[in-house]
Amino acid sequence: MSTDLKQEVETWLAAHWDSENGRAVGSSDYDQKSWLTKVVDAGYAVPSWPEKWYGRGVSPKEARIIEKAFQARGAKGWGRDRFHLGAISIFKLGSEALKTELLYELLTGPICCLLYSEPGAGSDLAGIRTRAVKDGDDFIINGQKVWTSNAVEAEYGMLLTRTDIEAPKHQGITFFIFPMKQDGVDVRPINQITGEDEFNEVFIEDARVPERFIIGTLNQGWKSFQTAIASERLIMGDGITSRLRGAAGKVPTLLALAHKHDKLKDPVMRQEIAQAIAYRQLNTLNMMRAKEEMMKNGASSLASLGKLAMSRIQHGEARLSAKILGPQILLTETEDARNANFDAAKAYMNSIGGGTDQIQKNIIAERVLGLPKSTDVSRNIPFKDIKSG
Ligand SMILES: Cc1cc2nc3c(=O)[nH]c(=O)nc-3n(C[C@H](O)[C@H](O)[C@H](O)COP(=O)(O)OP(=O)(O)OC[C@H]3O[C@@H](n4cnc5c(N)ncnc54)[C@H](O)[C@@H]3O)c2cc1C
Repeated sequence: MSTDLKQEVETWLAAHWDSENGRAVGSSDYDQKSWLTKVVDAGYAVPSWPEKWYGRGVSPKEARIIEKAFQARGAKGWGRDRFHLGAISIFKLGSEALKTELLYELLTGPICCLLYSEPGAGSDLAGIRTRAVKDGDDFIINGQKVWTSNAVEAEYGMLLTRTDIEAPKHQGITFFIFPMKQDGVDVRPINQITGEDEFNEVFIEDARVPERFIIGTLNQGWKSFQTAIASERLIMGDGITSRLRGAAGKVPTLLALAHKHDKLKDPVMRQEIAQAIAYRQLNTLNMMRAKEEMMKNGASSLASLGKLAMSRIQHGEARLSAKILGPQILLTETEDARNANFDAAKAYMNSIGGGTDQIQKNIIAERVLGLPKSTDVSRNIPFKDIKSG
């Protein structure tokens, strides 16, 4: 079965993907929409999902066979059942009607941005104040989001809003899939220390979202959000969000760097590189446990363990690159120094995005180790009565 599947995908790719030029066979340029449409129609974008929802109903192990065949040829569009957070959330939590209306469009289009954090609500995300007020078949949205990655390109955002201010803070939240390209949505990029500007502030004033675009249930958005954030942490735990020449390729990069700078003769350096390899292997095994748990229960606190571990691994590897380069790391005109500095900055960013390291530690303490919850005096009172500065 596995060999047949591998053969089938390879034959399909040979017929449709031009590896040399990175585009579909017979086309003059890479056209994302038309390529993704081909991949989704062939059932290779979300193979672990049922046929009804554009998949093939195969096991995660078989899905990996498809992903590997795509990766080997440098073809895009694989693994959208693992990485497209908007589509995954709608698939897991959306109504039949919402899936029918949006899933195909999401799978064949650009990524969704995540409209969660606000100036006054980051770690304590349930403190969000962006309001959604019912108006006929729509909700009218007013508020501000911040640190929103990829908001400029995004056609949709996964939006956390406050819909009931009489209820305690975790109970009056509604989660929407929100159309970004409309009047009343103003996206302003923020410059980062990495030199990129992937983040944005998003100001929302009297924008609209149809009621049928609720992900999950009205006022139960916090619960739906847990599923979405667990998927995000799993991705970060796998190290996939790191754009550092691929997380899996990081250890060979360290080895090559040490070799190039004549540091492999140093036994301590060799030991530290071996340790970096061991940490990555260990984290891979933990992430396999998290995925198993997510398949069974829909969520896994172990994903927090992986995200925290990946943060430490990336910090450790950034320190190791600096050690290999020594004072040369200050020579920012060399490619090695530029990469090492970029990796270090990215490691710091990754230990904040998707929930900070401290918040992952709280989750592990409470949900994995079973320690008592920290006190939150605002947890059980109506949201409108919570004091804020
Ligand atoms: C790379 C990156 C990508 C991001 N992408 C997005 C995105 O697409 N969409 C989005 O909505 N947001 C995004 N964010 C924002 C991110 O989720 C928040 O920055 C993060 O949740 C922290 O919130 P905050 O910045 O408000 O810090 P705060 O919550 O103010 O935290 C400040 C400090 O206090 C600590 N702290 C707070 N509460 C506790 C506690 N209870 N126990 C222990 N320590 C605590 C924190 O760990 C942190 O060190 C991104 C951030 C980064 C860096």
